[in-house]
Amino acid sequence: TGIQELLLSRIREIEDHPEPGVRFKDITPLLADPEAFAALTDALADIAVRTGATKIVGLEARGFILGAPAAVRAGIGFIPVRKAGKLPGATLRQAYDLEYGSAEIEVHAEDLSAGDRVLVVDDVLATGGTAEASIQLVRRAGAEVAGLAVLMELAFLQGRARLEPALAGAPLTAL
Ligand code: IMP
Repeated sequence: TGIQELLLSRIREIEDHPEPGVRFKDITPLLADPEAFAALTDALADIAVRTGATKIVGLEARGFILGAPAAVRAGIGFIPVRKAGKLPGATLRQAYDLEYGSAEIEVHAEDLSAGDRVLVVDDVLATGGTAEASIQLVRRAGAEVAGLAVLMELAFLQGRARLEPALAGAPLTAL
């Protein structure tokens, strides 16, 4: 479709970043193009409305940039999931494995509650580890998962298959 071509045309590939052998997808040209950024924001807001989301959870850092304007557009709240140690209040924390070592993410416990339906938003789905940990956080906070929406899915890393149990039928949309 037109929007997919527009979005794809504004993503830049950087060879060997952050390490040799990785072809990094850089979304900054898309953010700098108001037409493309607005189209992406509208598409994410549409997903939030269609899935009945009451909150958007954005994953640090690019999930903030994409998720926040979509939440405003959809008329719902925005909740940041941050790397451990950044949020000042009482948090829920979730560890997950990286290729080498592990990482931890957090959410303010009082930002989500039973009755919330959460759309998780990030820029790129790679192995799915970050999204999986975020979905676990949402569930532990007592909220429901309305879905996961990303700009781009790196299908060769098979994150979609990994996320199937965690999503438990909630839709994964890659724009
Ligand atoms: P995963 O946990 O392996 O799915 O990695 C996803 C996380 O890493 C997301 O938060 C992305 O922002 C980031 N990421 C992985 N690959 C890329 C890329 O090529 N471009 C931008 N972000 C990426």
